[in-house]
Amino acid sequence: MNTRTAVITALLIITIVTPGSALLGEKEYPKFLEEPWDHSPITVYIDEQNIPPHYSPTYPATVVSAMEYWENGGNGKLSYTPVFELVNTSDADIYIMWVENMEEVTGAEEGVAGFCRPMIANGRYVHADIVLEVGDYRGFSWQQYGDANMEQLVTHELGHALGLGHSNDPRDIMYPTYEQRENINPLLVETTYPLIIIAVLIAIGISGYLGVGWLRYHKRRQKLEDKLLKK
Ligand SMILES: [Zn+2]
Repeated sequence: MNTRTAVITALLIITIVTPGSALLGEKEYPKFLEEPWDHSPITVYIDEQNIPPHYSPTYPATVVSAMEYWENGGNGKLSYTPVFELVNTSDADIYIMWVENMEEVTGAEEGVAGFCRPMIANGRYVHADIVLEVGDYRGFSWQQYGDANMEQLVTHELGHALGLGHSNDPRDIMYPTYEQRENINPLLVETTYPLIIIAVLIAIGISGYLGVGWLRYHKRRQKLEDKLLKK
């Protein structure tokens, strides 16, 4: 084999191998589930009852924009077209709430601005909690997130609630910019549906904004657990 043939062979190999790496280069990223919701519309509840001190009444509008983003094609990575419906009951498919500071309130790692925790049973989402903080420390001063920031955060977390994982493309909304160290941890619930409701209540309890909140939350959880375990 002369040099030229060797080069051509090498080029061929590269061409054959490339589709795989091109896919990676094309920023493929994992999906939790291809089609997580078994019904449509997907109902969304925005918690405006348990709000932290620096909550902005403009935040729900950012949720609406985020829903429209995904309904209108989003980042092109969904294999289905989601339809959302805002509802007034907290047992909606997706529950959205805000906390003052993620690390302090939920014990999340530093740098986490939001998270989505989908609960999965029998290969489908049965519920998803989205928790967002309203601001973060920049150096020594605390700064509230503006609407543009919030819209990006909500859009990203909604992407998780629609089954998407993280992108490695910095231009993609599913790139973990605002929550570099975010850890999406789907809760697998196979048989215990009541536990889901309890988990939601606990999430609400946690959000119950600290201080007095913790005591109340612990008591409430204790009650719930007693109820469940003694039956
Ligand atoms: Zn994320």
